[in-house]
Amino acid sequence: MSKQFDVIVIGAGPGGYIAAIRAAQLGKNVACIDAWSTAAGTPAPGGTCTNVGCIPSKALLQSSEHFEHAKLHFGEHGISTGEVAIDVPKMIARKDAIVKQNNDGILYLFKKNKVTFFHGLASFVKAVEGGYEIKVAGKSEETLVGNQIVVATGSNARALPGVPFDEEKVLSNDGALRIGAAPKKLGLIGAGVIGLEMGSVWRRLGTEVTVLEGMDKFLPAVDEQIAKEAKKAFDKQGLKIELGVKISNVDTSGAGVKVEYTNAKGEAQTLEVDKLIVSIGRTANTNGLNAEAVGLKVDERGMIVVDDECKTNLPGVWAVGDVVRGPMLAHKAEEEAVAVAERIAGQHGHVNFATLPSVIYTSPEVAWVGRNEQQLKEQGVKYKAGTFPFLANGRARALGDTTGMVKFLADAETDEILGVHMVGPMVSELISEAVVAMEFKASSEDIARICHAHPSLSESTKEAALAVDKRTLNF
Ligand SMILES: Cc1cc2nc3c(=O)[nH]c(=O)nc-3n(C[C@H](O)[C@H](O)[C@H](O)COP(=O)(O)OP(=O)(O)OC[C@H]3O[C@@H](n4cnc5c(N)ncnc54)[C@H](O)[C@@H]3O)c2cc1C
Repeated sequence: MSKQFDVIVIGAGPGGYIAAIRAAQLGKNVACIDAWSTAAGTPAPGGTCTNVGCIPSKALLQSSEHFEHAKLHFGEHGISTGEVAIDVPKMIARKDAIVKQNNDGILYLFKKNKVTFFHGLASFVKAVEGGYEIKVAGKSEETLVGNQIVVATGSNARALPGVPFDEEKVLSNDGALRIGAAPKKLGLIGAGVIGLEMGSVWRRLGTEVTVLEGMDKFLPAVDEQIAKEAKKAFDKQGLKIELGVKISNVDTSGAGVKVEYTNAKGEAQTLEVDKLIVSIGRTANTNGLNAEAVGLKVDERGMIVVDDECKTNLPGVWAVGDVVRGPMLAHKAEEEAVAVAERIAGQHGHVNFATLPSVIYTSPEVAWVGRNEQQLKEQGVKYKAGTFPFLANGRARALGDTTGMVKFLADAETDEILGVHMVGPMVSELISEAVVAMEFKASSEDIARICHAHPSLSESTKEAALAVDKRTLNF
């Protein structure tokens, strides 16, 4: 006997579990199916984000930042500690405990919202009267029928051609988050968000880290002035980043990994490391979904094809998150999930892609929303720019971290904020003010006239807005 649901969500990452909860809040009878298991075989909902992405990476970034502060900066505060040491297995265990808290939290939220959770691999069987039949292959097999289906099956790390992940020497994000001891030498291929975050963790713990990047420009999606400032800070920290490289061979036959490549000048180089993290992007995951059984359209890159409202080519089948076009970000998946659940319930969900923030959680952090200076130039938009350095911010001085700046870009005529770009301490938190402002179509003058608590890092946001009109008060 099949079990009937109004909505079946496949995947319980940030796209899936949020879609399930929102649909349940709107009165739907909802099932959510997820295949992720702990080492003990128990359910681990939360997807990439919770298990091997956003949450564990931030846990390790925090631990390694504490370690670096204790080693390098406590002395400035008059604190002496003796020799500072790191117990890597304990750091990893703390990270694992945080992941588990999040897994358990999602299971609790399912109960609270009366979402029925199934642990196992979901696949399409066929279209049936009033919806679709879905098979769940778990400890036991179940057949479900759903009137509406939301696919949120996420993404997997992309391997270098011919160099599969063994998670011992050649690591994806999964292996990179559970290295048992700080390696002496670590190589990283890809200077994107994940590469820089992982590189920072292990560099802080004493590893010699070399990042090889194929593109000749550092962080091309980031405002050039901000990317330059970030690069300067990473160089100073000793994170070696080589741009414009071409990998020719990766040899894993020895004790470590030997990477042969040509550098930007075309010279042949060899990098020998103990471990190699490959972070060259992610591919949409439709493995095991049996999309062909119902004719669900997938493009040449393996992504489920959707329209602006996340509708697939099949009536009643939706897809959200990393498995569809757009930035692979947890909050993008969540916003699409809420919008889809609301559309299913007859409401008018909406996602504003123009105000999706992006963050790199290194030190300094990098955060931005809206268009950057190079994009505005390309588009021929007339704009005014204002910047304010953290060097001139009292709270940043008190924190002992004055790296970076806040930068505003506003329309030359209307003063509407077109983009806000930040590099510096805690800018992952500061960027939200800019997102709110842009959602409300604020002008830089609006932010410049709002009272910000003193002393706070957020005063730099106000000052950068003042700088648009060349009237900073503290610089
Ligand atoms: C190291 C790292 C750090 C990151 N840091 C950030 C960050 O700081 N901020 C940010 O916004 N984003 C970050 N991301 C990206 C973020 O993790 C993803 O954008 C997000 O997880 C996508 O959510 P999703 O729900 O689409 O997919 P996922 O989180 O990948 O979840 C998909 C789920 O579906 C399940 N599944 C797949 N197929 C089936 C099936 N057939 N049946 C049942 N279950 C199935 C999977 O097991 C998984 O649990 C990071 C990613 C990585 C790798």
